[in-house]
Amino acid sequence: MFDFISKKLSSIVSELTRAKKLTIAHVEEWLGRVQSALLEADVSLDVVRSFTESIRQEALGKKIDSVLKPGEQLVKIVHDKIVQFMGGNSDPVVFDKQETILLVGLQGAGKTTTIAKLAHYIKKNAQKGGRKPSILAASVDFSRPAAQAQLECLAQQNDFSFYKPTSLNVIDAVDEVMAYRTQQAFDYLFLDTAGRLQVDDRLMKELVQIKQTLKPSRTIFVVDGMTGQEGLSAARTFRDHVAFDGAIITKMDSDARGGIAFSFSYVLERHVLFLAEGEKSTQLIPFNPQRMADRILGMGDIATLAEQAHEKIKKADFDDVSRAFERGAFTLRDFSKQLSMMDQLGSLTQLVKFLPSSLIGSVPLDRLQQGERDMKKFKAIFSSLSHQELDGVRKITSHRKKEIAAGAGVTVADVGQLFERFEQAQQYAKLFKSGGFMKNFR
Ligand code: GDP
Ligand code: MG
Repeated sequence: MFDFISKKLSSIVSELTRAKKLTIAHVEEWLGRVQSALLEADVSLDVVRSFTESIRQEALGKKIDSVLKPGEQLVKIVHDKIVQFMGGNSDPVVFDKQETILLVGLQGAGKTTTIAKLAHYIKKNAQKGGRKPSILAASVDFSRPAAQAQLECLAQQNDFSFYKPTSLNVIDAVDEVMAYRTQQAFDYLFLDTAGRLQVDDRLMKELVQIKQTLKPSRTIFVVDGMTGQEGLSAARTFRDHVAFDGAIITKMDSDARGGIAFSFSYVLERHVLFLAEGEKSTQLIPFNPQRMADRILGMGDIATLAEQAHEKIKKADFDDVSRAFERGAFTLRDFSKQLSMMDQLGSLTQLVKFLPSSLIGSVPLDRLQQGERDMKKFKAIFSSLSHQELDGVRKITSHRKKEIAAGAGVTVADVGQLFERFEQAQQYAKLFKSGGFMKNFR
């Protein structure tokens, strides 16, 4: 997600944050590079121009801040502009306890798939509040024979209800679905609609009629993140004819260059609600401009990482390691827990995407794969340690290291490497304690 823009901009950012002096010529040169990065990401020239122009105005008009270095100041201006372009500090979507949601968009945009993701999102959030909402999905897409079956299948897999209207007349079918929803008292209704390969008049008229009949609480426009400027122009037509409240941009896991996500809110004056990053129903990310700007500028997305961590990692282990970090005392047992938590999060290669580029630099892929191999060895070594050793009660002599290596089926150098890493982690723990970094992880 945003890898494309991010790769270009984050290297500029790390140069800038190091810069001691910043002349007008520097700023201009830098803005030129930002411009070409955005153009390559399929952001339209108009948008790119107004983006860089607003940065230029602010950068050149700004008084020197005595706290931030000039380069850092410029990075901050850019960061704030990206946030503003992406819709400002918008809060994540909160669905009401009952809603009727209409999905519109071109064919293949991901409407049907997205219903399953939204249903999952609503259920997950309701569970936190101890509720178990009833969700119904229905489709008035009669253009493709498989459209009904696709939604029915998703409903079965994801445990929400599906209703197949008997009428093939779209408006009669909407009435039928609404009657069923009322009769069965569903909290949520998702209505899926047909798309077209291209925007056409008939589709717009049909959608307007559907909307008038359904009176949805929310109309969501779904758009394929790979479509770039074409997607935006389709969005404009949908907005002007059917009107929608917010958008979901899909396929951000593919080689989408991010242009549409960058410009949508600015161009359409509608919020982006979520980004979809895959075909699984869990792969729906609330769109948070602040975090997106962090990612784009290579400042990492620690908050998203922390959220994923909370969902995937056993809470008890997480708390243990957090406490160890807070104390600044960190044992081999804590270290082994930390490694196994990382394991639960997924591969290092995936994890690195969330970390600030200033922290990781540009780590080559083979280094990461090496890291994954090390992880396996480390696990074997941990299993050869005694409880006293894990808790730091017994010191580990070099003779003992040989025994451990033999027991784990690794070399003595591997054992040495683990201890080296462990010492580094201990140093970090001390650092974290003094810096209070753990606050970010709660
Ligand atoms: P619809 O015509 O708008 O209902 O689109 P569908 O929901 O049928 O999706 C079209 C295709 O895109 C399907 O093959 C989906 O599996 C795929 N798809 C939808 N969302 C995503 C996504 O976020 N990432 C990826 N990689 N594929 C997606
Ligand atoms: Mg569909």
